[in-house]
Amino acid sequence: MQHDRSNKLFAEAQHYIPGGVNSPVRAFKSVGGDPVYIEKGAGSRIYDVDGNTYIDYIGSWGPLILGHAHPQVIEAVREVALLGTSFGAPTERETEMAKLVAEIVPSVEVVRMVNSGTEATMSALRLARGYTKRDKILKFEGCYHGHADSLLIKAGSGVATLGLPDSPGVPETIAVNTITIPYNDLDSLRLVFEKFGRELAAVIVEPVAGNMGVVPPQPGFLQALREITEQHGTLLIFDEVMTGFRVARGGAQDLYGITPDLTTMGKVIGGGLPVGAYGGKREIMQQIAPAGPIYQAGTLSGNPLAMAAGLVTLQLLGEPGVYEQLEQRSRRLAEGLAENARKFGLPHTINRVGSMVCMFFTETPVINYDTAKTADVELFSRYFRNLLEEGVMIPPSQFEGMFVSLAHSEDDIEQTIEASYRAMKAL
Ligand code: PMP
Repeated sequence: MQHDRSNKLFAEAQHYIPGGVNSPVRAFKSVGGDPVYIEKGAGSRIYDVDGNTYIDYIGSWGPLILGHAHPQVIEAVREVALLGTSFGAPTERETEMAKLVAEIVPSVEVVRMVNSGTEATMSALRLARGYTKRDKILKFEGCYHGHADSLLIKAGSGVATLGLPDSPGVPETIAVNTITIPYNDLDSLRLVFEKFGRELAAVIVEPVAGNMGVVPPQPGFLQALREITEQHGTLLIFDEVMTGFRVARGGAQDLYGITPDLTTMGKVIGGGLPVGAYGGKREIMQQIAPAGPIYQAGTLSGNPLAMAAGLVTLQLLGEPGVYEQLEQRSRRLAEGLAENARKFGLPHTINRVGSMVCMFFTETPVINYDTAKTADVELFSRYFRNLLEEGVMIPPSQFEGMFVSLAHSEDDIEQTIEASYRAMKAL
């Protein structure tokens, strides 16, 4: 496989764009090598500028649950675009979207559209802080909630200590208000609430963690979060930017039967256009301007093209058998990968929730960030590059999950398993 044109484009891009990319993970830095430039996508496939084809499991990092360039999504966007791309005035589709979200996700009575997952979580935090009149928040190590200052925080030096900035530019004065503890760790959770319970505005959590590979909540974890937050007047925010409309039609809260106070959404809800959303109980959401005093706004929020793409996507996800198909294909993929890894005696742990699949190169069960980090990233990098040569594109990081879409056929899955066999054999 040759990548001459991709390499040339990347060299030029690095001169004008930081690191050559508009979002860091695209640079393939953690797996070595240069990124592949994409020309187009169709269904389960993407095509690069050098004429190579890949079965794609990035799916734009989650939005493309219907596959690339789904004809009904493209048609909806085309129709709406002909009428104008943005008005800065309300349109009917925005209410249609809000109604549909409320129907699919019952905990979301009122919803505000924004333009990215980052905006959604940032706004939900402001709302939680304004509503509870408290400043501190609790998040979990290895969970990513976008790049707002309050959320780019790593753990302090011990349980129940205050956070430290994860990036230059995040003031310590902001970091101290973010407490971080290990995912799935109920003892730390209790400790934090004993110490800071009455100061905590919100707990924000990925109900299935998808930014340290894939890490499911252990039985009782989400339930414990619900109970302890309720006892302390702290809001529970489910960040369903990745899991929403993916692990079940109603997201992880539907799958696990837990009702959060606020939910953040993104990715699938925009059908591949730039969208985020946050919503929840009416009483809380009514605090948002102009209904209430907590400010949040957006020039392009509720954009007609994004609403059109999102609406079609959510509607198509309502067809019978959709999630069963995702489950069945994803299960077969996970089994096939595990079988191959066993054949070659490779250390592996496969975590999967619905169409989020991750193979960690470790024997250690992965239940949090520390156990995720036991994975052999060097082995993963070589596997990634071998797989790319075999025409399969998985996320270029051990700490990201593969996304199976409705466009992946049984044949695609079998081809992927065969490619992974060869990629592992060559390790
Ligand atoms: N929350 C979660 C759970 C995410 O996975 C992401 C993005 N991967 C975000 C928030 C941020 O979304 P965006 O990149 O659209 O800002």
